[in-house]
Amino acid sequence: MSLPNLSGQTLDALIVGAGFSGVHQLHELRSLGLSVKIFEAGASLGGTWYWNCYPGARVDSDFSVYQFSKEELWRDWTWSERFPDWTELRAYFHYVDTKLDISKDVVFNTRVVGAEFNTTTDRWAVTTHDGTVVHSRFLILCTGFASKPHFPSYPGLDTFSGVRHHTGQWPQDGSVDLRGKRIGVIGTGASGVQLIQESGPQASHLTVFQRTPNLALPMVQYPVDVHTQDKMKEVLYPYILRRRQQTFSGFHFDINVNSLLSLSPEERMLAFEDLWAKGGFYFWLGAFQDTFHDDRANDEVYKFWQRKVGDRIVDKEMRRKLAPEVAPHPFGVKRPCLEQQYYEVYNQPNVTLVDVAENPISEITPKGVKTQDGKEHEFDVLVIATGFDAVTGSISQIDIRGTDGLLVREKWGKGLATYLGMSIANFPNMFFTYGPQGPTAFCNGPTCAVRYQPSLLLNSPLT
Ligand code: NAP
Repeated sequence: MSLPNLSGQTLDALIVGAGFSGVHQLHELRSLGLSVKIFEAGASLGGTWYWNCYPGARVDSDFSVYQFSKEELWRDWTWSERFPDWTELRAYFHYVDTKLDISKDVVFNTRVVGAEFNTTTDRWAVTTHDGTVVHSRFLILCTGFASKPHFPSYPGLDTFSGVRHHTGQWPQDGSVDLRGKRIGVIGTGASGVQLIQESGPQASHLTVFQRTPNLALPMVQYPVDVHTQDKMKEVLYPYILRRRQQTFSGFHFDINVNSLLSLSPEERMLAFEDLWAKGGFYFWLGAFQDTFHDDRANDEVYKFWQRKVGDRIVDKEMRRKLAPEVAPHPFGVKRPCLEQQYYEVYNQPNVTLVDVAENPISEITPKGVKTQDGKEHEFDVLVIATGFDAVTGSISQIDIRGTDGLLVREKWGKGLATYLGMSIANFPNMFFTYGPQGPTAFCNGPTCAVRYQPSLLLNSPLT
């Protein structure tokens, strides 16, 4: 769909972003009989799975909970592995599109840069990157929590003469070939960990710049066959998809209400082994409740993690940096990520780990990265895996002006405040579904996305 068709029209609702939330909102609002469009900066559906196409990108949620809950969608779709990669997730969005005919109401390659509420017409005037203005009664921001990349402020970042990409803006055309290259990766969050374990075996040399060790958990990936999924669809799927709405983190399992400290050492060890063997986030979000509020319980968890991971790292110095004896922070307060061969990569002779807490990066040069010890690390490819201006950045990067004349970022600059993590005072008929003060990064994405029922929003007193 092209933009000019919309100029001069007034929509009932304009949605920004075509990931899980945007697709859900579009479908639901259309079924209420409203005129609604999505403006999407990318060239296809998928949201985070459109932008994050770096090598190794895959989801950290079991396939069964990482999908829409409508039976018409899950009944005919088959996953290939427990934790699908970005190509499979894109294929899933394509499938959803064929089922629900989403794309006919999506304007792709269109970035929303501003919006202003007109108190005379009670309509939002929404401006896109090319200056087109579209009017809408409701403005629904489905911009996710990770759509504004964060770049480190090292001097010289733009001077690097090799190939440089942020994981969240990886080229769509598959043009980056990591094989046989000298690769540098800055950042060891979930994106960094995935890219490191993927590129380590291919690189001529890989250098990782780590600030904080990631307390990563074993993914325990495996293929899933059609027969198993057919059986799950017969009985389990409806339970799983309802259960995910009832738990703390939106998964189909929950934090154990029992106390770790009340267990005997033998029971504790066996419980840890059990959770570990399950893979995924069981060891974190299926763990005992006192892990999250009692230092003694949390220390036990960390000790187990440190022993398990430490055993996989051959070099003593490497072990000290990746799995230190003293926890860098309480276990689970930072989101761990799931790994497959992350720690084994560091046993390879072609992999170097630079601890930037001990030896900070002083500048980026045309050849690579200079550290405080004076060494210049030379690269063909430099990967920026430093994450995002998370949660607020996705919304505050847009010039959205409310009835008091303030932009969202000016308002939030004085202190973050929302109504139930869904709206802001003086921004009438504007809602967001996956932003600050909502479950957002604390929750499995699709669980949150399908929780917001537009019919409830539209009946709110604000409208
Ligand atoms: P992230 O979790 O914010 O990690 C950023 C990494 O960059 C951290 O290791 C951080 O170190 C480091 N860093 C930041 N600034 C730095 C600097 N100036 N110098 C050196 N290191 C620096 O970002 P992400 O990995 O892109 O993940 C973003 C979000 O998406 C997270 O919530 C993540 O869990 C999610 N995600 C999920 C999946 C999945 O489900 N499979 C995959 C990818 C991402 P510090 O820890 O010291 O700050």
